[in-house]
Amino acid sequence: MTSSDEYALLGATLIDGSGGPPLKDSAVVVKNARIIEVAERKVIRLREGVQTLDLTGLFLLPGLIDCHIHFIGVSGWQPIDWITESNYMEAIRAVAEVRAVLEHGFTTVRSAGSRYDLHLRRAISEGTIPGPRIRACGLGPCRSSGHGDPVPRDLYDIPEDWVRSSLPWAQPCDGVEDLRKLIRRLIGQNVDHIKFWATGGGFWSRDRMRDSHYSVEEMTVIVEEAHMFGLRVMCHAENMEAIRKIVDLGVDSIEHGDNEEGQELDAEICKKMADKNIFLCPTIGVNFAEPDCMEKLPEPIVAGYQRAHSLGVKIIAGSDSYAAPVTPYGISSSRELGCLVEVLEFTPMEAIIAATKHAAQACELDEVTGSIEVGKYADMIVIRRDPLSDIHALEQKQNLVYVFKEGRPMFEGSEISRGEDR
Ligand SMILES: [Zn+2]
Repeated sequence: MTSSDEYALLGATLIDGSGGPPLKDSAVVVKNARIIEVAERKVIRLREGVQTLDLTGLFLLPGLIDCHIHFIGVSGWQPIDWITESNYMEAIRAVAEVRAVLEHGFTTVRSAGSRYDLHLRRAISEGTIPGPRIRACGLGPCRSSGHGDPVPRDLYDIPEDWVRSSLPWAQPCDGVEDLRKLIRRLIGQNVDHIKFWATGGGFWSRDRMRDSHYSVEEMTVIVEEAHMFGLRVMCHAENMEAIRKIVDLGVDSIEHGDNEEGQELDAEICKKMADKNIFLCPTIGVNFAEPDCMEKLPEPIVAGYQRAHSLGVKIIAGSDSYAAPVTPYGISSSRELGCLVEVLEFTPMEAIIAATKHAAQACELDEVTGSIEVGKYADMIVIRRDPLSDIHALEQKQNLVYVFKEGRPMFEGSEISRGEDR
């Protein structure tokens, strides 16, 4: 089966990503990478010679989307690991990371910062390596000594330039004019969106989430320069003061949105976010990953996310995978859907929408992916068990029978169904 053939997937229960009721005994016809027909099997009239694949008893969903991921190939979570490792070694590992994500049914991702995402995007789209469609942002700005810049911690005796040539997901940049130049340079690198860090992220004692990391003037120039070129802005923000400012500035998505002190998203901010169509990517699962694994998210944080959801803020699924030993690639992406169900009490359908329809909107790809509809790319997955009765069915790779990206079955020969989860 190649993407230019016309073929039909018959008999699966279709969960199309729109949130509507599943369609039993469905038929989906694919041609030239696109979906050309979706109907009940009994009403479909197939043209002569069309290949068919019988999926009776199986479940057909849109390819999933992880809206917050770092493909950085690091072997550990200590800054010393990142800067002593060769960038070549990291790049090779990143190739395995993108493959693992695709093997778990994620056909699109939105990068949240990576030294390698622009190159991975190109290698994947030219067909050199298997991986999801990547929305890339390269190395976005954090303040000097901010969340993406570990220089001051253990490494102050090492020449700064050398350390900074190895930072895996961000680049330090300060001041209005330097930020303006950096955003313009990133646009020149052909990024798909701009990511920046408005607050700390809890990496070490001076990287506190409660501290804002940029002035309003600095953040204004980031947002203005990005929007001037039609690029969206994805903003790491973990305290209410910063969140209020960036909502007023009109960023397009808020990442994490929580706080170590348990401040919660209040109704006023949630309503503003909903009115301005600002997405919220809570990255729940990473809180339960090593090395600083939490047992439970603090109640106020959960309440804030739930309030946002009930007041119409679109919640999107993002794993924040950043290092294979602590956030294994692929499985962490799938687990985020389980976290939305278990921690935020989403229905399985709402969790699926967070990783399909709403995620595609956040990636500005809703015209081409995020649901199984006529005209869109045939990005689809086939699984053995019903994710609406158990969302965790998505976490076990052995449940995944097919991954189609733009109509083409990835991993032909069912490697995915035999592979062990890492
Ligand atoms: Zn992140």
